[in-house]
Amino acid sequence: MATIIDGKALAAKIRLQAKERAERLRAQGVEPGLAVVLVGDDPASKTYVRAKHRDCEECGIVSFDYALPAETTEDELLGLIQRLNGDAAVAGILVQMPLPAHIDAERVIQAIDPEKDVDGFHPMNLGKLVRGLPGLRPCTPAGIMRMLEEYGIDPHGKRAVMVGRSSIVGKPMSLMLLAADATITIAHSSTAELASACRDADILVVATGQARMVRRDWVKPGAVVVDVGMDRDENGKLCGDVAYDEVEPLAEAITPVPGGVGPMTRAMLMENVMYAAERQVAARRA
Ligand code: NAP
Repeated sequence: MATIIDGKALAAKIRLQAKERAERLRAQGVEPGLAVVLVGDDPASKTYVRAKHRDCEECGIVSFDYALPAETTEDELLGLIQRLNGDAAVAGILVQMPLPAHIDAERVIQAIDPEKDVDGFHPMNLGKLVRGLPGLRPCTPAGIMRMLEEYGIDPHGKRAVMVGRSSIVGKPMSLMLLAADATITIAHSSTAELASACRDADILVVATGQARMVRRDWVKPGAVVVDVGMDRDENGKLCGDVAYDEVEPLAEAITPVPGGVGPMTRAMLMENVMYAAERQVAARRA
């Protein structure tokens, strides 16, 4: 029986810590603020945005809602970002992805002031991660590192396999595990003998978007398994990239879906807003 890594409980603790940090700033006369920008009316994106506003409310962070029509042009969006970059009441800027096809998401990400880039997607922040410098880190991998830490799982000297190489999960996760002294393999859709590569892992992190792809015989007994996936099974039920029922009995520890990585991603956003707000206050006072 594996230890079930309770992302929901840990996320609640992180939100409480963010709230305490927000109260300390407020006592100094500073209101931490997050601007959440949504273009269009994709229902899933709207749900994520609502959740972010709720998290802000719980943490005592002011949230500014920018719900823009789907026809918003790239220039209009870039103009808004310029204004938010210059607005001292806005410590963090989050542009909900995906953006409509007529907007170049890369240009938008790069327009955000790196000090306000609470998603940690700006090349400046990813570059800092590569260089091992402090900076805003992408929320999902940062949340996973926090879960490992909280559960006493030290990647030092371990073999880690990251399945997936996206810029928001796979690549930054690999760099964070590397920085924590794991020996890391990055696998993707062209990896040969993927199951065998996964069986080498002491720590297996999966972020592919392929429902229940990782089966029992892909996992070494005693491995730690982190499931980033948010997929639907054949009955339309939320599931992960790992066949949880098969893998849980032989894993040392495992994250469930739901209740694992997802809540941690949300909580780390609140932590990033506080990190950004505190740095901006310190910079203004320097
Ligand atoms: P993505 O950008 O689509 O990347 C998926 C990665 O998985 C790619 O690198 C792809 O390889 C690889 N892949 C796809 N099918 C594969 C296969 N059959 N075998 C091996 N590798 C395969 O996805 P993402 O944004 O990283 O998200 C991945 C999953 O995590 C999704 O289910 C997403 O909803 C979920 N997610 C959850 C959270 C959370 O907070 N819980 C946050 C972010 C994402 P190639 O590069 O070769 O195409």
